This record gives sequence, C-alpha cells and structure tokens, in this order.
Amino acid sequence: MHIYVHIPFCARKCPYCGFYSITGEKSIPAYFEALKKEIFEQPVICSTEAEGDAKTIYFGGGTPSFADASCVCDTLRYIREMFSIDEGEFTVEVNPNSFNEDKAERYLEAGFNRISIGVQSLHDDVLSTLGRLHDREGALKAVDAAKSAGFTNISCDLMLGVPGQREEDLYEDAQILIDAGVKHISMYSLMIEEGTPFEKRYGGKLDEFVDEDLERRMYHGLRDLLSRKGLFPYEISNCAVRGFESLHNLAYWKGREYYAFGAGAHGYLDSVRFAHPEDVAEYINDPMKRITEEVLDEDAKLREKCMLALRTSEGMDNDLARKFQDAVDKNEKLGYLMKTPAGYTLTRKGLDFSNLVFMDFL
Ligand code: SF4
Repeated sequence: MHIYVHIPFCARKCPYCGFYSITGEKSIPAYFEALKKEIFEQPVICSTEAEGDAKTIYFGGGTPSFADASCVCDTLRYIREMFSIDEGEFTVEVNPNSFNEDKAERYLEAGFNRISIGVQSLHDDVLSTLGRLHDREGALKAVDAAKSAGFTNISCDLMLGVPGQREEDLYEDAQILIDAGVKHISMYSLMIEEGTPFEKRYGGKLDEFVDEDLERRMYHGLRDLLSRKGLFPYEISNCAVRGFESLHNLAYWKGREYYAFGAGAHGYLDSVRFAHPEDVAEYINDPMKRITEEVLDEDAKLREKCMLALRTSEGMDNDLARKFQDAVDKNEKLGYLMKTPAGYTLTRKGLDFSNLVFMDFL
C-alpha cells in the first residue's frame, strides 16, 4: 500500500516551478479538514501485486513544512489509523526556510522516518537565480536540524543546469551534503515549465544561458561522483546509499498502485489513473472530485511498466523485453540500451536520450 498526500502551499512561488501550489495560509486549516474527509471516504483496496512491498506514505508539495506541523502530523496519524499501517516508510518534504529542529522532532514523534529537503544548491548565487527563499546557511541548518532531531534517512534535492552555475559548485555541494551524512540525493536538471516566470525569462533559449554539453557533463559528473562516494544511481535522477533508496518512488517505478489525496494529486488505483483538480477551493468543496480518469488496459500497463522499469538501474527483465523485442533491438543498435543478465538497462548514452527510448515503448 502506497499513499501520496499533496500539500499545495508554499511561502512564495519559485519562478521555475510547474508544480501545483498556492501561496497564503488562509485555507490551510480547511484544506486539512478536506483531506481527512477524502481519506475517510476511501475504500481500502489491497492490490495483490503489491504483496511483500513495504508500506509507504509520502507527504509532498508544495511545501508540507509550510503548514503547521500539527496539521501534517495529525494527518499522518489519521492515515495510519484508517489504513491500519504500523510500519513503513513515511516521508515528509520540507524547505529550509520553513523547517527547524522543533518541527523535525514533531515529525519524528508522529512517525515520519524519512525527510526530503529542498536544498537545490549550496551556492547563494544559484539559489538567488532560482528565486529560493533560503541561502546556503539555511540549507545546512535544515540538514543539521533533521540530524539533531534523530532523522537518519535524509534526502536532499540538488538542481543542475542553472544559469550561472559552475560544474565545480555542484560537485562541492554534493560533497558537503555527503559529509553531513545525507544518504540520498535527487538530482534535477532545470526545465522550463509552461506558464512560469522562467518561461518568459529563458523560454526556448535556455541553451544560450546554459550550454547543453555543460548540463550533460554536470549530470554525469554528479552521478559518477555520488557513485564513487557510495550513493549509487538507482534511478535516472536518484542516488542513494544501499538501503536508503526511496521505497515510495520505487513503488511508482515498479508500476504499483497508489492512493493520492489532495488538490492536484495524481493517483493510480484499481487500474485507473486519476487526478484531483488543481484548485484548493474546489478541493475543499468536494475532496472526492476527480477531473481525469483513465483506465489502463493490459497493453497500456505493460508499456508503462517498460518505461518505468527503464528509469531504474535494474532495468526491464527479459520477459518484458521479449514482449517489445522490436523496440529493444532498435534501441540496443542505437546504443541506448544494453543487455544485462536479467534484461536490459539504459546505457550512459541512453540516459541522455531516455525520452526518445521511452517513446518507443509507449
Ligand atoms: S517551494 Fe517547491 S513546490 Fe513551492 S514553488 Fe518552490 S519549487 Fe515549487
């Protein structure tokens, strides 16, 4: 059983962000009430396919730490009670500007055992380009706060390909986080999302500000560095010390079903992919409303399974590969896929063209 909870509130909107979130605190209490309603109304479905998986609950956003800790903690307790979940991986995303040791202690007490910190960079010029509200010091304090409270499973996000960012800055950031005891790093290339202030600033010409070769060098350089330091790339954008992989995200990549609560949350239950409206007021009014529902037939499920499996370092197994032999052969010839004893994985070159590879399976 896997559960995602979306907390769509942020202190300020970052100019590059395409996630659904709003600023302002006014509707937060009513929002958490609506979440409880939705959780209460959900039938408990147990997928047989997921047997043996750890249970996972993931609070993402937005910025969960922007909301009062008691709202977040009560919701976690409520979910665990309603779904009878004693043990599992329970993650909360936090941002350095709305997080401190007190919050960390309260999260831990409520049962959260994994924390994901939106560090993005430890260089103030990069953070300022990204319009983030924290600086290097704030980011390091957030990591310290999580550690001091007793979290051992700490993940940090790092952004690469930011205009003005130097390759060595990125590697230095990674090294500092590893030295601080961070066990998991998610790495994201800056993307220009539609309708964001960054679209106006860089739309269609990001490569004039960030050389594409530099961005690729950063990506591979960071993966290699993390690997050498014992954080293995277990997915296209994620590296972790063995045993600290995100079980929640691994469930997505294995094609498992998951609940999704909250405005703008996307879920997958009973072979149906669904999404809630990206509108807090509408969600508060009707938390059960879904704006899209797509039933996946067996063929669609298999195709998704291929694409998701290829994101992981484990790759797709031989059984799955045989079902899509033409696509596999084509991409192997192009040098994008390579054979392993168990099946196929993306090559280094394939990592750069992963979207093209995926299209052949969809
Ligand atoms: S804090 Fe995160 S979710 Fe909120 S606007 Fe910034 S990037 Fe988006």
